[in-house]
Amino acid sequence: MYDLIIIGAGPAGLTAAIYAGRAKLDTLLIAGKTPGGQIYLTYQVENYPGFPDGVTGPELVERMVSQVKRFGAEIILEEATKVDFTSEPYKVYVKDKVFEAYSVIIATGSRNRLLGLESESRLMGRGVFVCATCDAALYEELRVVAVGGGDSALQEALDITKFASEVIIVHRRDTFSAQRYLIEEVENNPKITTMMHHTVEEVLGEDFVTGVRVRNLDTGETHDLQTDGVLIAIGWLPNTELFRSQLELTDQGYITADGVLTSKPGVFVAGDLNDTVYRQLATACGSGCKAALEAERYLGHR
Ligand code: NAP
Repeated sequence: MYDLIIIGAGPAGLTAAIYAGRAKLDTLLIAGKTPGGQIYLTYQVENYPGFPDGVTGPELVERMVSQVKRFGAEIILEEATKVDFTSEPYKVYVKDKVFEAYSVIIATGSRNRLLGLESESRLMGRGVFVCATCDAALYEELRVVAVGGGDSALQEALDITKFASEVIIVHRRDTFSAQRYLIEEVENNPKITTMMHHTVEEVLGEDFVTGVRVRNLDTGETHDLQTDGVLIAIGWLPNTELFRSQLELTDQGYITADGVLTSKPGVFVAGDLNDTVYRQLATACGSGCKAALEAERYLGHR
């Protein structure tokens, strides 16, 4: 039996664990196989306060994990497989083990949205990829198509140009929704061209990507484009499946919440899992802090 169980160990879950441990809550952090979430996959973090020269994602995660340990939260490197919030104490299962607590913070993050093509899943890891930081170096002096028109697509297209000889951004609208500075950087990058009002209909290739079939949404015509890689950067989906039968979800699959408060007393949300707007390291840490303070307050009033 714990005071608090935190599910997920990205920056939100880790920050919540630091605050909870420091407040002397008996805390269990169910961290999944590797703590850190998306930030663990980020090569260089340059906009997190306190690191004027930047810091690598893995180093920042390592520092956060040490801080969690210093304040006493227990960490297990496994995934939660089921939750039962029907009565208190709440139950969180890891396979056949069950852990109980009066308060739970859900910080399970989000995953990449995909186009949903059979060829996309068949060639995933064989030329189709979702993380430029992880895979861009594989495309040294090659051509890459980046799909999407938001911050991720443009930021990652720019990252890929450090390696690739050419990046073509394919976007289904006439304009990008990314921040102005990213649009300007893309416009000024000689390695990037844009193909607006086009969609990717098919990823081509037997064992590895050789091209994409794109459709011009003005004319309806399709044509094939040679490419060595396809980055899919079309947004994120919240990891909320585990909670579907226990908490109310919105049409988009987010947990219905008011800030970090869910409709279930003592159950809180933090991080990208429920952030449709900001999705930054600093905001994830901020919401982890808020959730831990709310949990402390809730446990104090029980
Ligand atoms: P996003 O803002 O939701 O953009 C998704 C993009 O993919 C949109 O252009 C969307 O087009 C397109 N798209 C969605 N579904 C598609 C489909 N089925 N086929 C083709 N295109 C599709 O997602 P994001 O770019 O991942 O950004 C998410 C959040 O993270 C944002 O809040 C962003 O500010 C933040 N972020 C910030 C930074 C940064 O500050 N440097 C970097 C990365 C992410 P439509 O407009 O037509 O739907």
